[in-house]
Parts: sequence; C-alpha cells; structure tokens
Amino acid sequence: MAKPKVIAVANQKGGVGKSTSVYNIGAGLAMNGKNILLIDVDPQGDLTKMLGQRKPHDLPVTLGNALNDVVADTENSSHPEILRHHEGFDFVPANRTLSAVEVSLVNVMSRETVLRRYVNSVKKPYDYVLLDCNPSLGMLVINALSASDYVLIPVQADYLAAEDMTELVGTVQNVKKGINHNLKIGGVFLTMANETNFRKEVVSAVKENFGKHLPVLQAVIPATVRLAEISTADKSIFRHEPRGKAAEAYRTLVQEVIEIGEKQRSRSADLGR
Ligand code: ADP
Ligand code: MG
Repeated sequence: MAKPKVIAVANQKGGVGKSTSVYNIGAGLAMNGKNILLIDVDPQGDLTKMLGQRKPHDLPVTLGNALNDVVADTENSSHPEILRHHEGFDFVPANRTLSAVEVSLVNVMSRETVLRRYVNSVKKPYDYVLLDCNPSLGMLVINALSASDYVLIPVQADYLAAEDMTELVGTVQNVKKGINHNLKIGGVFLTMANETNFRKEVVSAVKENFGKHLPVLQAVIPATVRLAEISTADKSIFRHEPRGKAAEAYRTLVQEVIEIGEKQRSRSADLGR
C-alpha cells in the first residue's frame, strides 16, 4: 500500500478558514475513495465541534490523552480517541486537555516530535492524514510540522500580511532543517474571497508577493455564508450545497491536494522509500 501522506493546514492567524478547509478537504478526499484521518491539533476544538462533537470539553478521550500516553510510553493500541464521521472518514477530537499537554511538553525529551510519534502509530490504514493547527507558531504547530510531509497555508484574500507569511515560512524552514527534512510547502490558497477582494489583481498580487518562493494553488475559496453555516450544519459543503461555488472551489482544492500527494508519492517511490 502507498505511503500515507501527512498534511498540516497552518497559519498563525485565526479565522482564515483552516478548520473549515480541513473538514472540507477531508470530506472531499473521502468522496474520492481515499481513507482519511483528520486530527484536531487545536485545544479550542473548533474542528471537533464542526464534526458534530458539540461539547469537546466533555469528551473523555481526545488527542491530549493520546499524546500523554506517547510521552509516558503507555500507548493504547486500540486507539479509543479515533472517532468515525458519518461522511466516511475518521477523526481525532481535541479539547483543552491539549493545552495542558502543550505546557507539559517543555519538560519532555524530543518534545517537538511527540505528535509525530503519535501520527506514525496510527497513520498506516490511511491515504491522507490532515492536521488542523491552532492559530500560533507554538509548540503544537512545531509538532504538527514535524509530523507532516507538507503544509498547506490558507490566506485570507484581503489580508496579505507579508511579515506573517515570512514568519510562517521561516518556522517551516527551521523545522525542515532541524527536525523534518521531508517537509515541503504544498501551497498557499486564498480563502474568503469576495467581489471586492477577489479581483484578478489581488490574485496576481498574492502570486507576486509569495509566488517566487511559494506555490500558489489555483483554488480560490469564496466568502460565503454557506461555508460559515457548515460549522453548525454537521455537513461538509459537498452535502450542504453541492452545486454551489464553494463546493466547486473545494473540489478544485481537493484535486490539487491529490496531485501534490501523488507527486510526492512517485518521488518517494523513485528514491525507493
Ligand atoms: P481558522 O480555523 O483558521 O480559525 P475557521 O475555519 O474556524 O478558521 O473559520 C473562521 C470562521 O469563518 C468560522 O466561523 C467559519 O465558519 C467561517 N468561515 C470559514 N471559511 C469561510 C468562508 N470561505 N466564507 C465565509 N465564512 C467562512
Ligand atoms: Mg481553526
């Protein structure tokens, strides 16, 4: 079986559509027949809520518990933290237990790779594992980048803060250099594009600003209340409004993710890995 690909969706800015994108990319990949695991790596549990677990803080077993087990070397091989979603993929929920883990990692050996050790222990049955990062460049994000083959960066169409991007890319490069030589930037994609900010000039400005260093993906996710609604509808955009613009855009993004994944797979096959 082909090697699972691990993808982090990261941006230190909150509210740019990371969690919404992880849900829709995951659901879209599952619709394409892929075996998918989504992992909520944000103590806020936003993805967990979107996936129908409305009270993440009441969940008895979440990512935080699983990571504590990795640190203590007492991993539960039955993985009770992995839940099934009705749209045909698996997910690992998160809640504030994860912030306690993040704090306690300060005293742990190899603290940057605790999540990687966890992902490695569960990823085998999957084609793709998607990590939904919290809005920071802290230890949880470093852990997510350390665990990943590539990172996808959603950028709000009207917020082209070049310094933020430089900081994020710098973090990716540091992780690549120090901890995870396989890490690559899969691409930047625009989210929340509307009539005013989604003009050709804006897209080309993004390409000009970042395109020299970063691949900019074709998919542009529109700003639409339909996407805001899915956080409580318990449906991905493909079920909520399958023929709308947002579903179309996420379909394009899913195809691009598959292309990046396949490219990386054939490259690792070349190297005999
Ligand atoms: P992040 O994970 O980066 O913090 P979210 O995915 O949680 O971002 O999105 C932030 C808020 O914006 C949520 O309320 C979500 O429902 C809404 N949202 C996400 N994507 C869109 C979009 N393309 N258009 C309109 N609202 C969106
Ligand atoms: Mg989020």
